[in-house]
Amino acid sequence: MLKIENISVKGGDSLILKDISLKINKNETMVIFGPNGSGKSTLLKSIIGISNYKIVKGRIFFNDIDITNLPISERAKIGIGIMFQNPPKIYGIKILQLARYISKNELEIKEIAEKLKVDMLLKRDLNVDLSGGEIKRVELFQILLQRPKLLLLDEPESGVDIENISIIGKVLNEYIKKTSCSALIITHTGYILDYIKGEKGCVIIDGRITCKTDPQTVFDMIKKYGYEKCEECKWR
Ligand code: ADP
Ligand code: MG
Repeated sequence: MLKIENISVKGGDSLILKDISLKINKNETMVIFGPNGSGKSTLLKSIIGISNYKIVKGRIFFNDIDITNLPISERAKIGIGIMFQNPPKIYGIKILQLARYISKNELEIKEIAEKLKVDMLLKRDLNVDLSGGEIKRVELFQILLQRPKLLLLDEPESGVDIENISIIGKVLNEYIKKTSCSALIITHTGYILDYIKGEKGCVIIDGRITCKTDPQTVFDMIKKYGYEKCEECKWR
């Protein structure tokens, strides 16, 4: 499904990601851990193709198509959906307008909106004056309407209370199970593991992958020893 081969990525003049390789098969979820500023969001933005990040080395493949230089809109069209850590506010665009642009199926819009408890937010401007939990639920609502084959989730639980984590976690888990899609999930707190177990886990420190094993083991090790232990490991 997704294959990343030795990519190095620059943002401005700084080299943020260094020689990253990973593979996610169909029906597989990978959970990424790492301290603040280690390059996790940059990795997801490079996969979706945000233009301020330049892949200076390596290649990204999605279903055997080389997407390294594909525009962001094309990547979305072939089935990659992303939930950003800090999505922008858009004045004048109603959430329902956007939903109807993504999906022509009113029943589906209604069903997913109810599941994510965003039905009462549909007439609001996109992300304007929404709470942290509401922003994340609205983000997820838009992504699920796109029916992606690969879900990229950047800290879906950040800035969100326990009740919202539970809604988001359950809906995400159900979508992953039902559609056999693949997912790449960044987590800082590990809370999402209560809902999505994931098959693969890794740690990114200073732009490099330092550990690859199952997500729960990674999380337990981080809780016990902190990220310093991951640095010692230097997985290659
Ligand atoms: P994480 O998501 O792991 O917290 P990020 O990927 O957001 O980390 O950022 C990694 C590092 O790269 C940070 O030091 C950040 O300031 C820097 N960075 C991110 N984007 C850019 C950019 N466009 N230009 C220059 N530096 C950037
Ligand atoms: Mg980040």
